[in-house]
Amino acid sequence: MFLLLLIPLIGVAIVVGMNFGWQWVLAPLLGLFLLRWLLGSLRALVTDAKHLEAQESTPEAVGTDERTLFWCEECGTEVLLLVRGTSRAPSHCGQRMHERTEILS
Ligand SMILES: [Zn+2]
Repeated sequence: MFLLLLIPLIGVAIVVGMNFGWQWVLAPLLGLFLLRWLLGSLRALVTDAKHLEAQESTPEAVGTDERTLFWCEECGTEVLLLVRGTSRAPSHCGQRMHERTEILS
């Protein structure tokens, strides 16, 4: 199906190239390849993100025998974790916060 469409397109490209110069054939071809490559890499990014989302478990409350803190290296802010929604650390001051788990006795 795609091949049948390709044969007249090649014919048109040769005619245009002969009459108007090959830059009129090569430039759109190059643009098409770039567009395809861009869409392909974008699709890969989106599927990666979806895959990551699927991996993350459902939110669960943190146990009472330990407490987890996230602290910011930049400004010293500390955050107490109550419910863990994802395994990734939250961000502060434009960077990931550091995790610290304290065991309570
Ligand atoms: Zn901070």
